[in-house]
Amino acid sequence: MGKITLFYKYVQISDPQAVMLWQRSLCEKLELKGRILIGFEGINGTVGGSERSIRCYVREMKGYPAFKNIDFKFSLGPTESFPKLKVKVKNEIVNLGIDPTLLTPEQGGKHLSPTQTHELIASKPEDLIILDTRNDFEVAIGKFEGAIDPKIATFRDFPKYIEDHLELFRDKQVLMYCTGGIRCERATAVLKVKNVAKEVYQIKGGIHRYAENYPNGFFRGKNYVFDARIATKINDDILGSCYICDQSYDDYTNCLNAKCNRHYIACPQCIQKLGNTCSPTCQQLVLTGQTNIRPERVTVRHSNLL
Ligand SMILES: [Zn+2]
Ligand SMILES: [Zn+2]
Repeated sequence: MGKITLFYKYVQISDPQAVMLWQRSLCEKLELKGRILIGFEGINGTVGGSERSIRCYVREMKGYPAFKNIDFKFSLGPTESFPKLKVKVKNEIVNLGIDPTLLTPEQGGKHLSPTQTHELIASKPEDLIILDTRNDFEVAIGKFEGAIDPKIATFRDFPKYIEDHLELFRDKQVLMYCTGGIRCERATAVLKVKNVAKEVYQIKGGIHRYAENYPNGFFRGKNYVFDARIATKINDDILGSCYICDQSYDDYTNCLNAKCNRHYIACPQCIQKLGNTCSPTCQQLVLTGQTNIRPERVTVRHSNLL
């Protein structure tokens, strides 16, 4: 068993290129894999490896002044949770599609601890709206009870969703959440600068920290993650349904037809019936050798989101 850490920090980085080179050599030395994005606005990463490597990595990070207060989140996972190491310099460390100098986390909503979040939801204020800021395929298998699913395919669609639904948030308390908290830092700012909501909140540490504290709380189902685990089970509720037969199910797979590679929920019976493809068409292409078969069973979704 290995360990995975998820972290981010919005902090001014004057030389992202130098930090990128340092991060790359550090991860290579420790044989860590995963994805780290660095920009003038900060750092966003998720890496996995042996327990010892993760411990060394965190120690090195804490020795760097800009990163010493990073809130590292940990979970157990296979040692090979990521196929590759990717360390890149990006304009935005989360791809919202808005110039990072024009919309910053300082403009974002108030941070609530897991306990404050739990108490707020439990008190059931009439004007409370819970808004999931994640993509549709993440929301499909787990979300907070009563949360609104904006049904976006990518985080870049989030600003338009807010723009199109401003009246929904007028004079409301809006609580936003995402996987580890990073997306909400600027997603809450998108709404807050519109000056329609009464209050805008974000969960400190996202679903990850909330579920650590309240595994049987208001978050139901699975937390989607961007590594080989695909999702971590928080409790027994199953929110998803099979893409083929619609029965209640929440494990993702990828279509065996490499050209299709659709990421979809499929129950064991449908996987067997269609030979792990998403449709009779894909199955036919695979059976007749008219297409390549994807190499590994499940493809990890690469994302700039976590
Ligand atoms: Zn099915
Ligand atoms: Zn397919």
